[in-house]
Amino acid sequence: MDVAHTHGAGESQIRGQLKGFRMTRDRRIILEVLGEAGIPLTAEDILERANAARPGLALSTVYRTLDELLSRGSVERTLLSNDGRAFFELTGHVHRHYMVCLGCHRMLPTRSCPVDDSVDSAAEELGFEVTNHSLVLYGYCRHCRSGRQSREESAK
Ligand SMILES: [Zn+2]
Ligand SMILES: [Zn+2]
Repeated sequence: MDVAHTHGAGESQIRGQLKGFRMTRDRRIILEVLGEAGIPLTAEDILERANAARPGLALSTVYRTLDELLSRGSVERTLLSNDGRAFFELTGHVHRHYMVCLGCHRMLPTRSCPVDDSVDSAAEELGFEVTNHSLVLYGYCRHCRSGRQSREESAK
């Protein structure tokens, strides 16, 4: 009887190595998309980018996966636009703010945080401890500005 029994260090061991967070395909794709984008994205943006790489993802899956990632703290939700759309980005991103174009809804990161020490001292006077802040600047990007200008000129 020299037929070796090859089971043993098999399936159960592999399962043990994967315990903890199950990195499903959907989660990995969404985390990759958010990581590559570097800016907050809506669920629709995520779907579009994810499907460009690997078609077949449904919007409902994106929402469900985002909920799971939110509850794990891997992803944060921000309301950036004044139309109430939710944007998602990876937790632990570099602290920065965004300028949101009202024309094309493009988001441009600011180079630095304009919230300075004067805010801290104002809060301190009120005995308020600031732990976080949000700031969004609204306006028109270069592209939309030139579009608006040329429309105004042609209307003359
Ligand atoms: Zn624009
Ligand atoms: Zn800031």
